[in-house]
Amino acid sequence: MLTVDKSIHERLAELLEEIGDSTRDFLGYPVSKDFNYNDLYPFFNYPLNNLGDPFSDSTYRVGTRKIEQEVVAFFAKLFRAPFNNWWGYVTNGGSEGNLYALYLARELYPNAMVYFSESTHYSVQKNLQLLGMQYITIRSKENGEMDYDDLEHTIQLHRQHPVIILANIGTTMTEARDHVPSIKQILKKLAIRQHYIHADAALSGSYIAFLQPKPAFDFEDGIDSIAISGHKFIGSPVPCGVVVVKKSNRDRIARSVSYIGSMDTTITGSRNGHSPLFLWYAIQKLGEEGFRDRAFHSLKVADYTREQLNLSGIPAWSNPQCITVVFPEVSKVISEKYQLASESGMTHIICMPNVSLQQVDQFIAEIKSEMVTV
Ligand SMILES: *Cc1c(COP(=O)(O)O)cnc(C)c1O
Repeated sequence: MLTVDKSIHERLAELLEEIGDSTRDFLGYPVSKDFNYNDLYPFFNYPLNNLGDPFSDSTYRVGTRKIEQEVVAFFAKLFRAPFNNWWGYVTNGGSEGNLYALYLARELYPNAMVYFSESTHYSVQKNLQLLGMQYITIRSKENGEMDYDDLEHTIQLHRQHPVIILANIGTTMTEARDHVPSIKQILKKLAIRQHYIHADAALSGSYIAFLQPKPAFDFEDGIDSIAISGHKFIGSPVPCGVVVVKKSNRDRIARSVSYIGSMDTTITGSRNGHSPLFLWYAIQKLGEEGFRDRAFHSLKVADYTREQLNLSGIPAWSNPQCITVVFPEVSKVISEKYQLASESGMTHIICMPNVSLQQVDQFIAEIKSEMVTV
């Protein structure tokens, strides 16, 4: 029999307190913490596993496939995927979604050259190395968006290769969004017929479809696939994400595996059966209206943060319709307290739906008091 040692409880209580403390102040990472999934506790008593393809049955039936299908359907519709020609699954995060999409693109165009801007998430280069794909990094403009002149020039030099583009729909540091119609235009101008555009929309993808005017980033705007993170804007106790691709493309890589009685169409074997539940629950509770409210709240807080920083003499800026506020690096004490990431002299606050005006005020007051004492 398993005896419950007092020290186990003590350790857990300590850890819980530590986690609570470190969650309270953070402003630097795109992670929502205002979720409540208590209704889902009973599901932790089951070994949920959606192994294999979410859209085909498996002999292993302890899972949430139907729920996962609904989650993918929600995002396929939101991203205007082609009618009856979409497919996807709930991943372990944005990075896996990118890996999957690049894998699909490689199977379509084995000899392709991959292009992405220098502001791209670090996981992409690793994924391309894993896949053994050739790639070229494109310059970024100062706001973090891809330099389209450099893209055009570079593609022109390698015209013999099919083109795969990883477009950032919100870079990690400045949330810059590559303009999909401009990329399409370049491909057309250079008469590149074999091309594939994947949208890395880890943070932005889950809220910008609700904005007016809507940024151009989805299937009707010209992408072939998209990956988002579920634990960023929506919020989840475990990292997760969603990838949506064109079904006709995924059909080319589907291989039937008899052991699981399903199709081996995803990256991993066993797959988390709980994370689709979190996303599904959030979608049911929020509805489109709830997503829109969260987006507006975040944009409002970002506007406020930028204004207040500027009033305090700190040159803060954001890309249009973005919830990330960028400014020069702050002291070590403050960046540690608020867990602010920095890169080449700049840092940022990401105004996630749980960030309040009061929290921003407190942050700015601390910066100001430092300015006085230095
Ligand atoms: C966070 C992020 C990723 C990685 O997503 P994970 O869910 O952490 O795997 C990829 N790309 C961008 C732009 C991101 O911001």
